[in-house]
Amino acid sequence: MGVIDKNTAVLKCPQCQVIETLTALEKGSVYGSAGWGTFSTSKHFDVVTNDRGPAGPEITTAKCKQCNCSAVVENR
Ligand SMILES: [Zn+2]
Repeated sequence: MGVIDKNTAVLKCPQCQVIETLTALEKGSVYGSAGWGTFSTSKHFDVVTNDRGPAGPEITTAKCKQCNCSAVVENR
């Protein structure tokens, strides 16, 4: 059985208190994984992603577009 996996990253700016959740979906089927899509586009942050292959992408760093400070990144 193919299970479509999903990576979720929560970004939070400590200055503006803006919180945004981004997701990346695995392009799977019953025949197995066909790789991963990229994270959805962030409205509030400039993000840097890291491709971990079969485990899918994760967000390593994010910067708030508004105040230019580093966001807190939590990959779930
Ligand atoms: Zn900010």
